[in-house]
Formats: sequence, structure tokens, C-alpha cells
Amino acid sequence: MADIVLDKVTKKYPDGSLAVSEVSIDIADGEFVILVGPSGCGKSTTLNMIAGLEDISSGELRIGGTRVNEKAPKDRDIAMVFQSYALYPHMTVRDNIAFPLTLAKLSKSEIAAKVDEASRILDLGQYLDRKPANLSGGQRQRVAMGRAIVRDPKAFLMDEPLSNLDAKLRVQMRTEISRLQQRLGTTTVYVTHDQTEAMTLGDRVVVLRGGHVQQIGSPQELYSNP
Ligand code: ADP
Ligand code: ADP
Repeated sequence: MADIVLDKVTKKYPDGSLAVSEVSIDIADGEFVILVGPSGCGKSTTLNMIAGLEDISSGELRIGGTRVNEKAPKDRDIAMVFQSYALYPHMTVRDNIAFPLTLAKLSKSEIAAKVDEASRILDLGQYLDRKPANLSGGQRQRVAMGRAIVRDPKAFLMDEPLSNLDAKLRVQMRTEISRLQQRLGTTTVYVTHDQTEAMTLGDRVVVLRGGHVQQIGSPQELYSNP
């Protein structure tokens, strides 16, 4: 676990567009923070810089007190969950969840124990031998989360993880993600353009607009002072 600090973080893409401009956010260890705002406001760019998938043009990013600007994604010890799930279609649920552990060369018994625990937490026990094509959208999303939690990362980064689900399932998975985050206590940064999701899911909401922080506060604070 770790705190995440963005200190005047700026992103200018090579074509000159200023996607994120001097954004400063202090995310506490174990906190669940939502980045919300209209399309193009800089949410994905911000998340991708935390993940190390995009370089930072200026400013500093610290995870657990350590500057990580120059660190490769694999050295940041964080797990990302995408809206597209990014599951391997030819692999079973078990092998999809186990994949990061296989890469990390854990022993077979350690892998089996961690996959077992994750599948219990996410209620996937009966689906371990299936392929992703034979799962519902909600089940696929749980597999993607299982693959994130087995690594026991310092933080979870989620980019619109529920946007491919229908409305009913979205509400259900929202509750599940919230419970999972509370249970694990892992620092989480969650991107959405959905106001309701932003107001119901996190400890704190960061409203981005045009690459700037427009507002930051608890859902209650933002709701009473919109
Ligand atoms: P979202 O709004 O859901 O975050 P977008 O559709 O804006 O996603 O972007 C999808 C992908 O296209 C991202 O990888 C993003 O980096 C890239 N992208 C977005 N805008 C531009 C742009 N103006 N020029 C080049 N690539 C872009
Ligand atoms: P959001 O996730 O809030 O939709 P993005 O972070 O994807 O916003 O984009 C923020 C801004 O940066 C937008 O104006 C977008 O067009 C631009 N952008 C995103 N990716 C790229 C890219 N690869 N190259 C150039 N501009 C980009």
C-alpha cells in the first residue's frame, strides 16, 4: 500500500496539446479517489501517467514517498483495470488470473493459493475452467479484477471499468468494487465520466476540466457546494 502524490504534474503531447496542466493531488494510503469530468478533460492521461504508460512533461509523481517519474510501469507495483478487460481469450479464467504470478515466477502452490483466494473473494470459483468468451460481462470484469488483486499491488488504477456493462450490472459491480476496495484497503484511483458513479463510489472526488483540477472534495462536500 502507498500514498500517491501528484505535484504540479503536466502533460504536453508531442503534437503540442496540453492535456494536463499543473495538476496537484494528494492521495492518502488506502484512499479511494475518483477522477471525473467530461470527455477530453485529461482523466485517462492523468491515470496513464500514474501507471507510467505516458511520460510526465513536468512536475513530480511520488508513490509511497518515492519519485517514480522515470520508473517503468512494471517497477511501480500498481495494477490497472481497463474497460476492455484485456483478458487473454485463449486462456481459462484460472490462467488469466494467474498470469501476473506466472510472469513473476511464483511457485505452482503459491499461485494456486493466490488464485483460490482471489476467486473466493470475487465469487469466480465455479468458472475457473471457462474461457472469457463463455462469461458474462460482469464475470469478465471480476476476472480482470482478480488478475489485479493477486499481485497484491500498492495501488489499483481503474479506467472506466464498468462502462461496457448494462445499467443494472453497473450498479451491482459498483457495490462490489466498493466492498472489495474497503476489504483490501488498497489505494485506488478510478476514472469515470459518470457523475453518479463519482458521487457514490469514492472517498474523494477530483473534478477535472480542460486539464485542470476544478474541484476536489468528498462527495458530500461537492454535493452541497456544486
Ligand atoms: P476516453 O475519452 O474514453 O478517455 P478517447 O477516445 O479520448 O478515450 O481516447 C482513446 C485513445 O486515443 C487514447 O489512447 C488516447 O491517448 C488517444 N487519443 C485521444 N485523443 C487523441 C488525440 N487528439 N490525438 C491522438 N491520440 C488521441
Ligand atoms: P479523458 O480521459 O478525460 O477523455 P484524455 O486524457 O484522453 O481525456 O485527453 C485529454 C486531452 O489530451 C484531450 O484534448 C485529447 O484530445 C488529448 N490527447 C489525449 N491523448 C493524446 C495523444 N496521444 N496525443 C495528442 N493529444 C492527446
